[in-house]
Amino acid sequence: MNTDRKARWAVRQSALPTIVRPCPDCSGNRHRPSGKIRVNASGKLLDVWLLLSCVRCDRTSKVTVHERAHVSSLDPERLVAYENNDAAVVRELTMNASLATRNGYRLDWTDSWTVEARTPLHSLDDPTPLTVRVVFDLPAPVRVERLLMLGLGLSRSAVRRMVGDGRICVPYALDAKAHRDFELTVRTAGSAGAVAHTRERLPQPTLAMRAGA
Ligand SMILES: [Zn+2]
Repeated sequence: MNTDRKARWAVRQSALPTIVRPCPDCSGNRHRPSGKIRVNASGKLLDVWLLLSCVRCDRTSKVTVHERAHVSSLDPERLVAYENNDAAVVRELTMNASLATRNGYRLDWTDSWTVEARTPLHSLDDPTPLTVRVVFDLPAPVRVERLLMLGLGLSRSAVRRMVGDGRICVPYALDAKAHRDFELTVRTAGSAGAVAHTRERLPQPTLAMRAGA
C-alpha cells in the first residue's frame, strides 16, 4: 500500500550571482553588474567590457568580454546588444562561468535562488511520509542545508535535528552542494512524535523493529 504524499520543489534563480574579486579601492570583494557594457573601437578592433560596481564603495571596474576582437568576428546583433546595454546580455554575462574563469573571479550564488514548493507544506503534522522531488532550474549548485531550510520553512537547527534523528532522509550531507535533481523523504512531526512516544514506553520492540527494517 503506497500512501506516500508527494511534493515537487523547483530550485529557481531569484537574483543574479555576486561577482567576487578584490576591489582596488576598498577592502570589499563583492560586485554587482552596473547594468552597462562598454564598447571601445580602435579601427576595426573592438574591446568589450562588462562594467561592475563594488557593493561596498560603488567603484566601477571592468570585466573583459572581448579584447581586440575584429569587428567582423562579432555577431552584428550581439554588437548592437552590447552598445545598447541590453539587460538580457548583461544578465547572461554576469552569470557566465567561463567568463568568470577567464577573468579570474568567482560567482557567489548565495541568496540568488529560491525554492518554489509546488505543494505547500502546510501539514507537517500529517503522519504520512512526504516524498519530495527536487528539480533544478539554476545553473549552480546549492547547499543542501539551505535548500531544506527554505523548502520546509524551518530553522537551521530544526533541519539538523530532523536529519539527525532520521525524520528527513536526504541523499547528501547537509554541508554538501547539490546541482542535480534528487528525492528526499520527510517523516513528519506527527509520525516522529508517535515513534518517540512508543519508544519511551516500549524501547526494546521498537529498537528491534528498527534494526530489522
Ligand atoms: Zn570597493
